[in-house]
Amino acid sequence: MTDNYQVLASIEAAQHDTPFCACGAPAVLVGHDRNVWLECSTLGEHRSALRRLLALDLVADHTRRLVVDLAADDAMRLEAAA
Ligand SMILES: [Zn+2]
Repeated sequence: MTDNYQVLASIEAAQHDTPFCACGAPAVLVGHDRNVWLECSTLGEHRSALRRLLALDLVADHTRRLVVDLAADDAMRLEAAA
């Protein structure tokens, strides 16, 4: 089970360990559903195909990793309660 302290510690560690993407852009925390991802700030931008090509998005290995998975924690709680 994940408590608030563990969630905050995971988020702080992720930001500390990976402040920037390999492409040089800042890495940012983004919430999707009940998950928190650390990802390259350029991934959330809506850019033209030409601009992505110029920024070498096609070859760049942008940061995107799961930091907190609260959905999985909810599933574990439901299994434990059953
Ligand atoms: Zn990037």
